[in-house]
Amino acid sequence: MIEDLTVRTMVRNRSLARAISYAAWSDFRSMLEYKADWYGRQVIAVDRFFPSAKLCSHCGALAEALPLKVRTWTCGSCGMTHDRDVNAANNLLAAGLAVSVCGAGVRPQRRTPGGQSATKQKAPRREL
Ligand SMILES: [Zn+2]
Repeated sequence: MIEDLTVRTMVRNRSLARAISYAAWSDFRSMLEYKADWYGRQVIAVDRFFPSAKLCSHCGALAEALPLKVRTWTCGSCGMTHDRDVNAANNLLAAGLAVSVCGAGVRPQRRTPGGQSATKQKAPRREL
Protein backbone atom coordinates (compact mmCIF):
# COMPACT_ATOMS: atom_id res chain seq x y z
CA MET A 1 0.00 0.00 0.00
CA ILE A 2 1.33 3.38 -0.89
CA GLU A 3 0.13 6.91 -0.33
CA ASP A 4 -0.61 8.84 -3.52
CA LEU A 5 1.06 12.10 -2.56
CA THR A 6 1.36 15.15 -4.80
CA VAL A 7 5.03 15.18 -5.65
CA ARG A 8 4.81 18.68 -7.15
CA THR A 9 3.41 20.14 -3.92
CA MET A 10 5.91 18.30 -1.76
CA VAL A 11 8.84 19.46 -3.88
CA ARG A 12 7.80 23.07 -3.13
CA ASN A 13 8.71 22.36 0.50
CA ARG A 14 12.46 23.07 0.51
CA SER A 15 13.40 20.54 3.14
CA LEU A 16 11.57 17.76 1.31
CA ALA A 17 12.46 18.77 -2.25
CA ARG A 18 15.93 17.31 -2.40
CA ALA A 19 15.02 13.96 -0.88
CA ILE A 20 11.97 13.48 -3.06
CA SER A 21 13.57 14.57 -6.31
CA TYR A 22 16.46 12.20 -5.75
CA ALA A 23 14.11 9.40 -4.87
CA ALA A 24 12.47 9.68 -8.32
CA TRP A 25 9.13 8.84 -6.82
CA SER A 26 7.31 8.01 -10.03
CA ASP A 27 10.06 5.61 -11.09
CA PHE A 28 9.82 3.94 -7.73
CA ARG A 29 6.07 3.62 -8.10
CA SER A 30 6.25 2.04 -11.56
CA MET A 31 8.88 -0.42 -10.38
CA LEU A 32 6.75 -1.28 -7.38
CA GLU A 33 3.71 -1.89 -9.57
CA TYR A 34 5.72 -3.96 -12.02
CA LYS A 35 7.18 -6.15 -9.29
CA ALA A 36 3.84 -6.51 -7.52
CA ASP A 37 2.20 -7.63 -10.76
CA TRP A 38 5.03 -10.07 -11.39
CA TYR A 39 4.40 -11.73 -8.03
CA GLY A 40 0.62 -11.57 -8.32
CA ARG A 41 0.36 -8.91 -5.61
CA GLN A 42 -1.64 -5.73 -5.61
CA VAL A 43 -0.48 -2.14 -5.16
CA ILE A 44 -3.17 -0.02 -3.52
CA ALA A 45 -2.72 3.75 -3.74
CA VAL A 46 -4.42 5.44 -0.81
CA ASP A 47 -5.96 8.82 -1.63
CA ARG A 48 -3.65 11.80 -1.03
CA PHE A 49 -6.34 13.51 1.05
CA PHE A 50 -6.51 10.62 3.51
CA PRO A 51 -5.24 12.12 6.83
CA SER A 52 -2.77 9.29 7.49
CA ALA A 53 -0.59 11.25 9.94
CA LYS A 54 -3.31 13.15 11.83
CA LEU A 55 -5.60 10.18 12.42
CA CYS A 56 -5.13 8.30 15.71
CA SER A 57 -4.57 4.67 14.70
CA HIS A 58 -5.73 3.60 18.16
CA CYS A 59 -9.12 5.33 18.57
CA GLY A 60 -9.74 7.01 15.19
CA ALA A 61 -9.80 10.59 16.50
CA LEU A 62 -8.49 13.26 14.13
CA ALA A 63 -5.80 15.65 15.39
CA GLU A 64 -6.38 19.29 14.40
CA ALA A 65 -3.00 20.23 12.99
CA LEU A 66 0.27 18.38 12.86
CA PRO A 67 3.17 20.38 11.45
CA LEU A 68 5.83 18.26 9.75
CA LYS A 69 8.39 18.99 12.46
CA VAL A 70 6.21 17.23 15.04
CA ARG A 71 7.53 13.66 15.02
CA THR A 72 5.62 12.31 18.03
CA TRP A 73 2.22 13.35 19.28
CA THR A 74 -0.29 12.33 21.91
CA CYS A 75 -3.92 11.77 20.98
CA GLY A 76 -6.25 14.18 22.79
CA SER A 77 -9.02 11.58 22.90
CA CYS A 78 -7.40 8.35 24.09
CA GLY A 79 -4.02 9.60 25.36
CA MET A 80 -2.02 7.24 23.13
CA THR A 81 1.42 8.58 22.12
CA HIS A 82 2.32 8.01 18.47
CA ASP A 83 5.46 8.08 16.38
CA ARG A 84 4.24 10.14 13.42
CA ASP A 85 5.46 7.72 10.74
CA VAL A 86 4.49 4.50 12.51
CA ASN A 87 1.00 5.88 13.14
CA ALA A 88 0.67 6.91 9.47
CA ALA A 89 1.88 3.47 8.34
CA ASN A 90 -0.72 1.76 10.56
CA ASN A 91 -3.48 3.97 9.12
CA LEU A 92 -2.37 3.31 5.54
CA LEU A 93 -2.27 -0.43 6.15
CA ALA A 94 -5.80 -0.35 7.59
CA ALA A 95 -7.06 1.79 4.68
CA GLY A 96 -5.44 -0.49 2.12
CA LEU A 97 -6.86 -3.61 3.73
CA ALA A 98 -10.32 -2.00 3.71
CA VAL A 99 -10.02 -1.37 -0.02
CA SER A 100 -8.79 -4.91 -0.61
CA VAL A 101 -11.50 -6.56 1.54
CA CYS A 102 -14.36 -4.45 0.16
CA GLY A 103 -13.21 -5.18 -3.39
CA ALA A 104 -12.91 -1.58 -4.55
CA GLY A 105 -10.34 -1.29 -7.29
CA VAL A 106 -9.45 -4.97 -7.19
CA ARG A 107 -8.29 -6.42 -10.48
CA PRO A 108 -9.91 -9.56 -11.83
CA GLN A 109 -8.34 -12.72 -10.45
CA ARG A 110 -5.99 -14.71 -12.62
CA ARG A 111 -7.24 -17.98 -13.94
CA THR A 112 -5.83 -21.15 -12.50
CA PRO A 113 -3.59 -23.05 -14.96
CA GLY A 114 -5.53 -25.27 -17.35
CA GLY A 115 -8.79 -23.61 -16.36
CA GLN A 116 -9.27 -26.07 -13.53
CA SER A 117 -11.12 -25.28 -10.39
CA ALA A 118 -8.91 -24.35 -7.46
CA THR A 119 -10.92 -26.55 -5.14
CA LYS A 120 -10.20 -30.27 -5.13
CA GLN A 121 -12.97 -32.54 -6.25
CA LYS A 122 -13.95 -35.19 -3.73
CA ALA A 123 -13.38 -38.76 -4.84
CA PRO A 124 -16.41 -41.00 -4.26
CA ARG A 125 -16.05 -42.78 -0.93
CA ARG A 126 -15.69 -46.56 -1.15
CA GLU A 127 -17.98 -48.54 1.14
CA LEU A 128 -16.42 -51.62 2.76
ZN1 LIG B 1 -6.67 8.21 20.07
